[in-house]
Amino acid sequence: MTYSEFYRRSIDDPTTFWAEEAKGIDWHTPFTQVLDDSRPPFARWFVDGTTNLCHNAVDRWLPTQADKPALIFVSTETDEERILTFAELHREIQRMAAVMQTLGVVRGDRVLIYMPMVPEAVIAMLACARIGAIHSVVFGGFASMSLGSRIEDATPRLIISADGGSRAGKVVPYKPLLDEAIRLSAHKPSAVLMINRGLTPFSNEPGRDHDYAALRATHLDAQVPVVWLQSTDTSYILYTSGTTGRPKGVQRDVGGYAVALASSMKHIYCGNPGETYFSTSDIGWVVGHSYIVYGPLIGGMATLMYEGTPVRPDAGILWQLVERFKVTVMFSAPTAIRVLKKHDAQWLRRYDLSSLRSLFLAGEPLDEPTSSWIAEGLGKPIIDNYWQTETGWPILTVAHGIDNTPTRLGSPGLPMYGFDVRLLDENTGEALGPDQKGVIAIAQPLPPGCMQTVWGDDERFVKTYFSSIPGHQVYSTFDWGVRDSDGYYFILGRTDDVINVAGHRLGTREIEESINSHPAVAECAVVGVADPLKGQVAIGFAVLRDPAAAASSADRLALEGAVLAIVNQQLGAIARPARVHFVNLLPKTRSGKVLRRSIQAVCEGRDPGDLTTIEDASALTALSEALAG
Ligand code: AMP
Repeated sequence: MTYSEFYRRSIDDPTTFWAEEAKGIDWHTPFTQVLDDSRPPFARWFVDGTTNLCHNAVDRWLPTQADKPALIFVSTETDEERILTFAELHREIQRMAAVMQTLGVVRGDRVLIYMPMVPEAVIAMLACARIGAIHSVVFGGFASMSLGSRIEDATPRLIISADGGSRAGKVVPYKPLLDEAIRLSAHKPSAVLMINRGLTPFSNEPGRDHDYAALRATHLDAQVPVVWLQSTDTSYILYTSGTTGRPKGVQRDVGGYAVALASSMKHIYCGNPGETYFSTSDIGWVVGHSYIVYGPLIGGMATLMYEGTPVRPDAGILWQLVERFKVTVMFSAPTAIRVLKKHDAQWLRRYDLSSLRSLFLAGEPLDEPTSSWIAEGLGKPIIDNYWQTETGWPILTVAHGIDNTPTRLGSPGLPMYGFDVRLLDENTGEALGPDQKGVIAIAQPLPPGCMQTVWGDDERFVKTYFSSIPGHQVYSTFDWGVRDSDGYYFILGRTDDVINVAGHRLGTREIEESINSHPAVAECAVVGVADPLKGQVAIGFAVLRDPAAAASSADRLALEGAVLAIVNQQLGAIARPARVHFVNLLPKTRSGKVLRRSIQAVCEGRDPGDLTTIEDASALTALSEALAG
């Protein structure tokens, strides 16, 4: 069957199509209805079926590969290595699950996981899945305010954390940030479970904080059976940035997600049981959820979990790991490749990469020079993936498990099966033809694996995602795109104020709110500006309450440092702008809206565009001067 036939079946007859794909996982009780779309835009997949993500990821593989590696952990930060077989992983998950139960966690409770890249993080996620607790993993690079707002929204009974992480040889303490986050949050967890790596000292709050090693030791023989969940129950919440300062909790189901991942492992990633999958992402992101933890294990593969950077101890480390663990499928981000590109291409040829079939790259636009450099250097197919936290798996790519559709430079590829992708005019909602720029949208129903709703806020789900295109209740990706005459899509950037720094999605509003909290700042604007390494970086422009505070260049430097430190402390280093410039005025329309796109254009040396509504054109000149000086 050709890909286009396969795709058409998924769109024309989704019920038959997904019933077939659902055979890729184990069901405890079969579903009675493939799709319930009686209350659009909410789609419920595999109604009445019961299953479990942990069962499908681990228990299911015990009869055939109990002694094969399931979780391979390598840290070049602490020089640790651990390999857990499926049987060992199964045991560790039950120990963790038993500890969670003694701390009062029951089905439906939220467990927030704020952890570095260590095996216990994966074990904790799978333990939650096993007993029907809903995990919410928060990226370890986020600081107290970002973490606090997530604690408040998810209201976890338990938080699992560690003393610290390590980045490029530098220890990053987690516990003080966690304590501060809990202090900031109106909701308080009843317990905190600490994994002590021995990296950095920390203090425990008596009665609330518990040591994992001590509790684990009392549950070594724990047998915690899988709790069979409804397919439509919630498996996890993962927060993502949007256009408001308040992050959105992307809520995912159980059965639909398991089916989508099993299916993608077969048709897109072409991974087989017994092989090794290596994703360089972090468990704090959606790629980490889908393709470090659940996808590879559901596919019966070992997953390689790596704590470290791509260039330490040298720029060959990723390929050394591919050789050692015979990686067949690898997943990374364009930024990581651009980092490698600054080093000698010889590093790409030093190791035996014969096991590797393809390298998938996702999370941000893959520029042509980077794509060609890595394709030539490795001599392997490079496959771009376009997707979002909300969708859980690729919207656009090529599915080499179906046929060998060629890739096209600069394009992630074609709509994936199940995604009825449309290119629409943002004002009229009209469908656009080849080579016309529009908003990339997805017609209902969203396929299995996509978000169910915004955690605790159905109305926000409908309003945010399904109400932006006039006259059509379709899902908006908030990305601009064009399609060529062969159906390949090209992504042209976001339609909203979300920016993408090194593959990490950040809301400019969140950063602005943080800058505004500095007492000297009256107002500010943050924009994403093209950057050769990170894709985009955040640049801030702040108006001071008293311009004299930044009169001399020494004052400006000190103030900029203080403002950046606030962002660092509140949101984390990933959100810290590259620069904050001080100006007397922000370019605004006469109705008071900040002209972010004009600011961005000036920063990138482009034409600022239509300025007929600008209140005071001198603001743009001042901006250019601030950038120059
Ligand atoms: P996130 O939810 O953090 O994964 O961010 C999703 C956003 O990242 C998308 O809406 C796009 O703007 C961008 N993005 C993800 N993958 C790609 C890709 N392959 N090419 C271009 N942009 C991408």
